[in-house]
Amino acid sequence: MAFEYAPAPESRAIVDIKASYGLFIDGEFVDGHGSSFKTINPATEETLAEVAEADAADVDRAVRAARRAFRGWSRMPGKERAKYLFRIARIIQERGRELAVLESIDNGKPIKESRDVDVPQVAANFFYFAGWADKLEYAGLGPDPQPHGVAGQVIPWNFPLLMLAWKVAPALACGNTVVLKPAETTPLTALLFAEICQQADLPPGVVNIVTGAGATGHAVVSHPDVDKVAFTGSTEVGKAIARAVAGSEKKVTLELGGKAANIVFDDAPIDQAVEGIVSGIFFNQGHVCCAGSRLLVQESVAEEVLGRLKRRMSTLRIGDPLDKNTDIGAINSAEQLGRIRELAEIGDSEGAERWSPSCDLPSSGFWFPPTVFTGVTQAHRIAREEIFGPVLSVLTFRTPSEAVEKANNTPYGLSAGVWTDKGSRILHMASHLRAGVVWANTFNKFDPASPFGGYKESGYGREGGRQGLASYLKGEI
Ligand code: NAD
Repeated sequence: MAFEYAPAPESRAIVDIKASYGLFIDGEFVDGHGSSFKTINPATEETLAEVAEADAADVDRAVRAARRAFRGWSRMPGKERAKYLFRIARIIQERGRELAVLESIDNGKPIKESRDVDVPQVAANFFYFAGWADKLEYAGLGPDPQPHGVAGQVIPWNFPLLMLAWKVAPALACGNTVVLKPAETTPLTALLFAEICQQADLPPGVVNIVTGAGATGHAVVSHPDVDKVAFTGSTEVGKAIARAVAGSEKKVTLELGGKAANIVFDDAPIDQAVEGIVSGIFFNQGHVCCAGSRLLVQESVAEEVLGRLKRRMSTLRIGDPLDKNTDIGAINSAEQLGRIRELAEIGDSEGAERWSPSCDLPSSGFWFPPTVFTGVTQAHRIAREEIFGPVLSVLTFRTPSEAVEKANNTPYGLSAGVWTDKGSRILHMASHLRAGVVWANTFNKFDPASPFGGYKESGYGREGGRQGLASYLKGEI
């Protein structure tokens, strides 16, 4: 039975959202030449701010600022660059509550996730890469590895500040300068990060933030003076970017979509596995590239696992992202909600069986209940396509080789999970699964020292760890 909880809202008084925001270029906020767009709170549909939409001339101005700054930044001794990154990391910690509240308001994710996962990971990435800045000659990339130059970076809306950290921290540590475009539905924490750069006295032009949608992103990645392109987002846009930069000298890393298998064997600790299934697909409303969106469960325990999973799902609390007891927040946009609904309806029409616990959804904002589909086959679109929402597709298997075959039967290859009591089986599965990350008896665990990235249509290049440095330095690891 679910407990009744009294409301426990986090105050939003700590956050000062301005009515409008310009672009952050050359160390200051400036007006753009283009029009502006609204960013809204997806939990209430309230307009939060007007944000400048950078056009090609604005992007050019940002790239020129980054190019000017590159000269000094790349020649600065690594230990001096490190001081700026450590300073940024400490300010992120000091302003952690403000960043977490703003992230939850603009994105819709539960405050307990932005407070306990996103923001601590953001700080950890800056600390980690700060530590590398004066040790690059020991990274295995030759005695004097050099930065590429100006990095053009485009990120998605699911982990707005964390994706910024994954991109900006290694780029700066290696001596590159940056023009970053946040997603159009979640620009606010990137703009607060710009203020943090000012607070840290980062030299002007080292970080530039240009806001806007796809056209702005296109202007960033295709700018002739951008040397390195780093993109995280959908496979469709990733392919468009690969086409846009083909034939140029630009270095490219693409972190794209996923359709991970979370594989539960009959000897797994079932309660622990159920927690892993829940966090695998319902963490961040399922807006997670490495979400465990396909549950592969061994036939002999399928009924038991599903029974316990449904019981656990009935205790999940959905609603106000700023309530400290909320487990599942709002879907990030009306558009994303539309996509989730459409794919769920396709699941119904293809004959899979849909189940959700009974839950009251708020009347305004964008919401989708935690959902599980059973009776799913590999041919179903809900087993093949990334839904990017709180929707789990369940398939069964009998033998380890059948599990491997089904898990790998996807155009993606970003992550996978294995739940079993046997170490040898974990190693066997990990070496046969075509996925960049394989978690064993856990899921969605991140560390800045650990490389992350995909196979096949999940992209190429790695972020995090020593491998992540290689993406921002000349020479191969
Ligand atoms: P998206 O591809 O629609 O947008 C991502 C970013 O690209 C946004 O900033 C957008 O404005 C910009 N963009 C759109 N068109 C562009 C173009 N033609 N040129 C340049 N930029 C363009 O993705 P999304 O809906 O924001 O994010 C969800 C996707 O991101 C999912 O597929 C998810 O799996 C993926 N993702 C991957 C990782 C990873 O590390 N592999 C991490 C998080 C999210």
